[in-house]
Amino acid sequence: MDSLAGCHPGAVPIIRMHETRYRGRFAPSPTGPLHFGSLVAAVGSYLDARAHGGEWLLRMEDVDTPRNVPGAAADILKTLEAFGFEWDGPVLWQSRRTDAYAAALDKLKAGDLAYGCACSRREISDSATRPAIDGGLAYPGTCRDGVAHGRSVRSWRLRVGGEEVAFSDRVQGRQAQSLERDVGDFVLLRADGLYAYQLAVAVDDEFQGISDVVRGADLIASTPRQIWLQRCLGYATPQYAHLPVATNSAGEKLSKQTRAPALRPDQAGRALASALAFLGQAVPPDLGGAGLREIWDWAFLHWSFAAIPRHAAGRDTLAC
Ligand code: GLU
Repeated sequence: MDSLAGCHPGAVPIIRMHETRYRGRFAPSPTGPLHFGSLVAAVGSYLDARAHGGEWLLRMEDVDTPRNVPGAAADILKTLEAFGFEWDGPVLWQSRRTDAYAAALDKLKAGDLAYGCACSRREISDSATRPAIDGGLAYPGTCRDGVAHGRSVRSWRLRVGGEEVAFSDRVQGRQAQSLERDVGDFVLLRADGLYAYQLAVAVDDEFQGISDVVRGADLIASTPRQIWLQRCLGYATPQYAHLPVATNSAGEKLSKQTRAPALRPDQAGRALASALAFLGQAVPPDLGGAGLREIWDWAFLHWSFAAIPRHAAGRDTLAC
């Protein structure tokens, strides 16, 4: 399709390297306090940035306002500080970035890469034939050629192609997805008027000049969508590293939904040493009892990216 020429993954992608040196980021959502899983992502991205002599930026992903918990953002910042993280520059708040997301959507609309969709959830579940890769159903493309007469646009979607979008993950190895098969045309502006996570992340990673995304592997299925968006918008594609995901004793990912306990600043040293061990680092047995400064100094000196395992070692990875 001609209109997809700008983000046709079959064509040789324009590789635009960031001219800046290494720039990483940590991007928590203020849906609750930080837990051990968030600490692992923070530690992995922070140490990778420092090991490259790079910058580490902080972005508060509060774009999904109904999910924000009052006080959680302030609590996250306080906890990161108490754990001894030092980020570069001011925090970027997604809730203040609406104009940038609107401009990106306008650009996609202008190129006929995005289209209005009238489908309700119910209609999609009645008409979809394939599951999507991360739950739900792959959008069957009902409104691709325009909304039916008398229907009004509820959301905006991005056209995707059937070709593989592939990338080489620094931890997980080669990954590939057919967006058409595994996701379908995906939402950029939701029916409730909020910009979707995928759009916000792509726009902000470009805006912040992020060269390296280091985050939990629970987000790996989103990466091809973000790469597709980067191609559609003419952005650079960062390098990706998806870290093993911490689980509880039932094998569930640590999250607010699975009631992961909040990190305790008074236990920061032990939690930090556990996060390092979780990331495959050869932590000396008594390191958790040392002061925070000493633990960070050890980590800066001994950090080995190559030691990070692809998957969590045991079922209960919370033990700290
Ligand atoms: N805000 C997302 C989360 O807390 C992370 C997004 C990202 O790192 O790209 O799960």
